[in-house]
Amino acid sequence: MKQEREEKTGKSEDSRHHPLEGLVCLVTGASRGIGRAIATAVAAAGAAVAINYHHSEKAALALKEELTASGRQAIAVQADVSDAAMVDLMFLQVEEQLGTVDLLVNNAGIAFKALLTDTTDEDWARLLAVNLTGPFLCSRRALPSMIRKRFGRIVNIASMQGVCGASCEAAYAASKGGLIALSKSLAAEVGPSGITVNAIAPGPVFTDMLCQDLDEGELAELLSLLPVGRWGQPEDIARACLFLLSPQNSFVNGSVLALDGGWKA
Ligand code: NAP
Repeated sequence: MKQEREEKTGKSEDSRHHPLEGLVCLVTGASRGIGRAIATAVAAAGAAVAINYHHSEKAALALKEELTASGRQAIAVQADVSDAAMVDLMFLQVEEQLGTVDLLVNNAGIAFKALLTDTTDEDWARLLAVNLTGPFLCSRRALPSMIRKRFGRIVNIASMQGVCGASCEAAYAASKGGLIALSKSLAAEVGPSGITVNAIAPGPVFTDMLCQDLDEGELAELLSLLPVGRWGQPEDIARACLFLLSPQNSFVNGSVLALDGGWKA
């Protein structure tokens, strides 16, 4: 395996410290929250990282500065992942500056809480566009070069809501359930080409997304339901993502890894 990777990257490496050395990783929605933690972990593991953002340019550039100052290779690339033309342009920028994408983390996502009867056509369409069409567009764009190299890793950040469903979150849960089905289907389709596709299904992780729709009382009630007695942290998700991105873990394919502290949505 090491020899195979050394041939691919053209350099010897200490696989314990920099297991992703020589690889290029694109993390969508990496300006904040879980994506930011994943980009940081991936860079520390030796990959060159492309930090995708939509609106938070300042935060994305700050992360890029932080990573490059610590000797890592990083760029920031703007794109709305639901827009095919912007996704294509983003990949062209990554390919020009870092090389073709070996590791894709489809993390960008939006949340939405409402009764189904209060969910508008626009709400529904936007949820599916960002949370499901985005990963479809990015995966479709990333796959040809992965297939040519006969190596690739795709990790989709889904949600426990996509596994269990949740009241007043039908659109969000449907988008994440769709993402899990996309992951499993693609895993079967591209597994023979040396590419693995897995999903992570987080429970409540303490980020802007978690706090945006819940008041203090609701947060306390939710926390009391978590068997481990604490919120998930973005770094919890990043550690699992590193495992799934590792070239060593080629037998983990089509899995849905629940990271929920024992909580069930
Ligand atoms: P967050 O703090 O709200 O951050 C969301 C990120 O996604 C931001 O970087 C944002 O970029 C980006 N994004 C949103 N729409 C985008 C678009 N159209 N194109 C490109 N980027 C876009 O959320 P988070 O909690 O870190 O969530 C990350 C992922 O984990 C999401 O897919 C979410 O559904 C999933 N998840 C989260 C939790 C949780 O409890 N936090 C639980 C389960 C699953 P800009 O700021 O640049 O616009």
